[in-house]
Amino acid sequence: MTTTEMLQVVNPATGEPITSLPAASADDVAKAAEQARQVHDAGVWSHLPARERGAVLLRLADLMERDAEILARLDSEDAAKPITECRTSDVPGAIESVRWFAEAADKVFGRIAPSGPDGLGLMSREPVGLVAAIVPWNYPLAMTAWKVGPALAAGNCLLVKPAEATPRSALHLAALAAEAGLPHGVLTVLPGHGREAGTALARNPLVGALSFTGSTATGRRILKDAAESNFKRVSLEMGGKSPQVLMADALSYGDELIDNMIEAAFLTMGQNCTAGSRVLVHSRIAEEVLERFTAAARELVIGDPADPRTQMGPLINHAAFDRVAGAVEAARAGGAQILTGGLPHGLPPRGAYYPPTVITRAPDGSDVLTKELFGPVVTVQTFTSEDEAIRRANATEYGLAASVWTRDLDTALRLARGIEAGVVSVNAYSEGDITTPFGGWKQSGFGGVEKSTNAFDQWTREKTIWIRTR
Ligand code: NAD
Repeated sequence: MTTTEMLQVVNPATGEPITSLPAASADDVAKAAEQARQVHDAGVWSHLPARERGAVLLRLADLMERDAEILARLDSEDAAKPITECRTSDVPGAIESVRWFAEAADKVFGRIAPSGPDGLGLMSREPVGLVAAIVPWNYPLAMTAWKVGPALAAGNCLLVKPAEATPRSALHLAALAAEAGLPHGVLTVLPGHGREAGTALARNPLVGALSFTGSTATGRRILKDAAESNFKRVSLEMGGKSPQVLMADALSYGDELIDNMIEAAFLTMGQNCTAGSRVLVHSRIAEEVLERFTAAARELVIGDPADPRTQMGPLINHAAFDRVAGAVEAARAGGAQILTGGLPHGLPPRGAYYPPTVITRAPDGSDVLTKELFGPVVTVQTFTSEDEAIRRANATEYGLAASVWTRDLDTALRLARGIEAGVVSVNAYSEGDITTPFGGWKQSGFGGVEKSTNAFDQWTREKTIWIRTR
């Protein structure tokens, strides 16, 4: 069966079609996997000295730099992300990832076991072979680059399935990789639907490792598919419901605090896995924080994502709008108060625009406090003690990220230790930098992390070689 279905790429801000591409069928995925496995077995990439692989990837990073504006526009148009965000964050972050892992390619060392005089135990790190990546639409290039960098540096052949809505930056990246001298068949981009191409990758018997970023529901399916096929190694980066914890002295950071809170809450219209979607504020400063935060949310510039002044574009599609609007209305019906936002009015007529929304007084345990909404909606809760702050911070099934604001180092450390999340940033909204691991706890992550040298664990296997000595 060959491809007949097409992927329609539409600009979410205008509703205008951008392009249509053949969607990879299950059969296309199987063929691509066979070809890539042959390329791997031929050793054109995996047997290349790591330094030479790094050199190709450094050229790729340079070409991404050359085409930075093209890449920024592709993601901005496909995902309706504000162009300034793509220019200043997504694309530079993607380039940094490819460059950093290129430089790390020849620094992945094995180990020697402390055995006795009868033998020498060498533990070598080797590429998995044929590997796959499935990425979401909210950071199309950046998430692809987090996987392409370490997977290729480690010597694997990689199949990438971009999200349905946002395939173009990954395709451009593959073209740049070819221009950089990456051997044919080492990186293959397969635009396609999750239910068909994604499932086919997760169930493919030749794929030895699969790294996924997306929703927790899809991650669960992928893990099941992997178990039911070949037990491929699976790494999952999934959803979040991250808290921003403000202790009683947090307002001493003034506008810096409010600016960070706004960024945490509304970056990419809140369609961000690490969105700080739950503000937990000490009751002593709650009134002033609410006033300043709500005022700043109202000032965000909503408009055309192609305009460099725009801070918030539309949501990815009308289904997302319905989900977000429905959740906010359910919260209102359940007794919560909408301080700003809620049902939109006066916004651009085309595109699924939803305003920045701040909610208080949601009942404990209610959906708006516990479920990922993936939209520009923030809840605000108060607390009176550190213990209560930690208890509230941990009251979801997610554990991706958190931020903590206080000048007291002891308090900051107690909170950072008590909050169950893969990343806790202090006095900043941050995931760290490329040198620090990024991965979720609880139902936000499974099986491996992105960034830092730890990312190589996803893409390499350790082999013990035992040499008998006499
Ligand atoms: P999604 O799970 O719907 O889709 C993600 C990818 O999985 C897409 O490429 C999709 O086609 C594919 N897919 C869908 N069904 C599949 C299946 N059955 N088998 C295999 N692949 C399948 O998620 P999304 O809506 O694109 O992205 C939003 C989610 O991603 C949010 O939950 C967000 O928190 C999460 N996310 C997490 C991180 C992180 O690093 N933890 C980063 C970005 C986004």
